[in-house]
Amino acid sequence: MNKRVKNVQISGIRRFYEKVQKVEGAISLTLGQPDFNVPENIKKSMIKAIEENKTTYTSNAGIEELREEISKYLRTCSINYNKDEICITVGGSEGLYVILSALINEEDKILIPSPAYPAYESISNILGGTVVNYSLNEDFTLNINEIKKKIDEQNIKYLLLSFPSNPTGAILSKEQRDDLISLIKENDIIVITDEMYSAIIFDEYYSVAQSEEVKEKIIYVSGFSKIFSMTGLRVGYFACSNKLMKELIKVHQYAVSCATSISQWGALEGLKSCLGDVEKMKNTFEKRKNYCIKRLNEIGIDVVDPKGAFYIFPSIKKFNMSSEEFCTRLLKEGKVACVPGSAFGDFGEGYMRISYCYSGDILTEAFNRLENFIKTL
Ligand code: PLP
Repeated sequence: MNKRVKNVQISGIRRFYEKVQKVEGAISLTLGQPDFNVPENIKKSMIKAIEENKTTYTSNAGIEELREEISKYLRTCSINYNKDEICITVGGSEGLYVILSALINEEDKILIPSPAYPAYESISNILGGTVVNYSLNEDFTLNINEIKKKIDEQNIKYLLLSFPSNPTGAILSKEQRDDLISLIKENDIIVITDEMYSAIIFDEYYSVAQSEEVKEKIIYVSGFSKIFSMTGLRVGYFACSNKLMKELIKVHQYAVSCATSISQWGALEGLKSCLGDVEKMKNTFEKRKNYCIKRLNEIGIDVVDPKGAFYIFPSIKKFNMSSEEFCTRLLKEGKVACVPGSAFGDFGEGYMRISYCYSGDILTEAFNRLENFIKTL
């Protein structure tokens, strides 16, 4: 076996999920997938694609129609990439894997936020990179001084950004975006910005990918798993300058040839006719988020109001238990499952992740149970 693979652990989210399966009657608030069905038009377009035999390989970069439509969509977010600067991938996950595989030489240093989506660190470790974590402000927003310091003190090659964040729901402000752009201009680094949840933001949207000045140094990653609730259909994309694309596409080609043809046609229809469904989903998420915050406040649990995605990351520090212990007891005694913060890196310790991809009734019952459990501590 490759030694680096042997040293990588199975994701803490997955490990905890196995525990949840064994507890009868538990309500799970652990899923990272919207509880909405795929919009009808997407389903129909995929059925039509099958009937029209659009089941062959597509070009490596993906069907031109979809890349054109993504380009148009990104322009509505003030991000400019033409169709040749976009590559369709097998979910956001493949995009991340391709990018990091193409970039990382052995021992290259990559700056990764903590807490964060666990794949960044594990992929970098598998590829032999050296992970340097950067912590965030108390409210999980970007601490630009921390990043500056790390870049100045260490030979950092890549910076990974992740907004809206899984697990915290934090987003990037205008000021933070502008500070980051200045920093990117001054330093010889490549920035990977993972924006899987960019369609689910309850505030203004800002991204470093909006800057033409640093475009050559940015790789933008996103996808359709969350926006169209199509996690199992596996379609995402990355966008970058032609110079970077020329290299990245080699890895993508040898890994998967192309993303699933049927799913690409589905995503195309989604962008053309389902953005109204996305808006409705986002409004529902915001209402649920407000309900969760209200209940957590009433129970007396410290929490930062998230501005995007569909997760909340409350502090459980005052209960003097590790997040694993707290979540295991909450599961066994309270019959509610939340993901321990430690699953998202060292700086996630002391927190737990609640997903609110669940109906109002389920959330109400889960918070009643959480409240009763807390009373027993
Ligand atoms: N990036 C982030 C921040 C995520 O939370 C996820 C999935 O949960 C992904 C990327 C991977 O997305 P996909 O399911 O499209 O591979």
